[in-house]
Amino acid sequence: MGRTFRLIIHHPRFSPILDAAASTVIVRVILSYMAGVPQSDAPHRNSSKTFYLETFGCQMNVHDSEKVIGTLVHEGYRQVETVEEADLILYNTCSIRDKAEQKVFHRLADYKKLQAQGKKFGVLGCVAQQEGEKIFERAPHVSLVCGSASYRRLPEMLVQLENAHVAGALEAATLEAGIEARRLQAELEAGHRVEGKREVAKLVRITGLDDRQTDECFETEFTARTNPYRGYITIIEGCDKFCSYCVVPFTRGKERSRTSESVLAEARQMADLGYSEIQLLGQNVNSYKDPTSDLGKKKSFAELLAAVGEVPGIRRVRFTTSHPRDFGRDIVEAIDAVPTLCDHVHLPVQSGSTRVLDAMQRLYNREQYMQRIAWIKAAKRDISITTDIIVGFPGETETDFGETLSLLEEVGYDSVFTFKYSPRPNTPSLSLEDAIPDEEKARRLEVVMARQRELQITQYKKYIGANLEVMVEGYNEGRGQWVGRTSHNKTLNFTAGLGPKVGSFAVVRVTASFPNSLVGELVI
Ligand code: SAM
Ligand code: SF4
Repeated sequence: MGRTFRLIIHHPRFSPILDAAASTVIVRVILSYMAGVPQSDAPHRNSSKTFYLETFGCQMNVHDSEKVIGTLVHEGYRQVETVEEADLILYNTCSIRDKAEQKVFHRLADYKKLQAQGKKFGVLGCVAQQEGEKIFERAPHVSLVCGSASYRRLPEMLVQLENAHVAGALEAATLEAGIEARRLQAELEAGHRVEGKREVAKLVRITGLDDRQTDECFETEFTARTNPYRGYITIIEGCDKFCSYCVVPFTRGKERSRTSESVLAEARQMADLGYSEIQLLGQNVNSYKDPTSDLGKKKSFAELLAAVGEVPGIRRVRFTTSHPRDFGRDIVEAIDAVPTLCDHVHLPVQSGSTRVLDAMQRLYNREQYMQRIAWIKAAKRDISITTDIIVGFPGETETDFGETLSLLEEVGYDSVFTFKYSPRPNTPSLSLEDAIPDEEKARRLEVVMARQRELQITQYKKYIGANLEVMVEGYNEGRGQWVGRTSHNKTLNFTAGLGPKVGSFAVVRVTASFPNSLVGELVI
């Protein structure tokens, strides 16, 4: 059945002619709203509303987006590939460095004009939490601002957004009618021809900015995983470490862990669905504290890791990121004991200088970090080690920087993610003096990357001749090679007579190496 409406105007100030004019305008706006705005904008739970979501930043954001997509689909939305096709345009944002933050404002500016078509815009994630309602000032076409600590409230916010949008359209229509009526009256009284109308925009503002109040994790059974073989499971959210340069404790709320039972239930469910690789996620995955009240079932991080590795059907388990302060020997013991746990630890050091580590409030010194490295190197298995490094932290001297370079040599990392220090809002290091000029940060970044590249050449060469198991990730048409990933988390491109299946496991003999990848031939 079509939708109908009846309009009654009670307005003592309007003359009959203006009541009629106002009615005409309201009726026109309501009719055009009902005819022109797709069903998707109506507040019906079962309608085919569309959304577009772009994700910026880390794996946590990628996985949050999978959960947000699942939630939206469950709420009756359909995901589309382009901004043009969508009724609701969402950006899941990152604010870890200034550059990442600016990207989202560029996107919002690029598509601002689409608001005139009735599209709604939402900013999710770290920039949303960090900037809060200031986003509405900078980008007035945004209607929804929601930090990750509020995602569990998304369904109710979506309903608010839909209702506010419809109410807003009607309110704007009424307002427009009033303005139009007064304008008509003035124009008629002046003896002018009457044409045109004034645009009235109605601003809708919905916020979810729970900050550090919540103890709850964003758990949903509707995760829309993008890869059918490999999937993420968040085990801990937020951060309580407060490193002096980092926005995460302000943008992702306080540290809170899921129960080991719920993590294991998700792992079993994924195994039943055919997933063979699981990656446990958290800002500091190894700071995990099982909130289970039953002491008999309570698990440490290493125990949880081992238990996930023992779920039938799971062939590989990875975990990221580990904080060096909370990295215990039991994690290495678990890797040694459970074959499905991958031969890889990502252990961000940030700097090789104890003086800088202290200023960064990292809660460990170089010696303690090297002790963790010694545990990993003493494992029965060959475990690859990767890290994050920040160059140009305020006050980092040439001597400090030299210590970072010497740490690279001492550890022999398999890969390093290097970043120029980026001053961030709210963080203690923002007010530190001795800022390093950007050109100097860029120079140090180049030096670290060049040195690490040389080290990796040696590091990767040692695999030549080895038979390594890979998970097949895809086929590169251009190079005529299959793409695989080793347990060490290295890319191994290989040739094969008969093509293996994507998602399957294969053994590949390594024949050559590059600084960032290996090359080989399928064995079986
Ligand atoms: N929790 C992890 C840890 O403590 O090692 C790191 C998570 S953080 C999201 C990822 C990386 O971003 C950090 O390891 C650090 O190298 C980098 N990072 C964080 N804040 C930064 C800043 N203000 N400037 C440059 N890099 C930064
Ligand atoms: Fe940021 Fe430090 Fe927390 Fe890592 S531990 S997320 S670097 S505050």
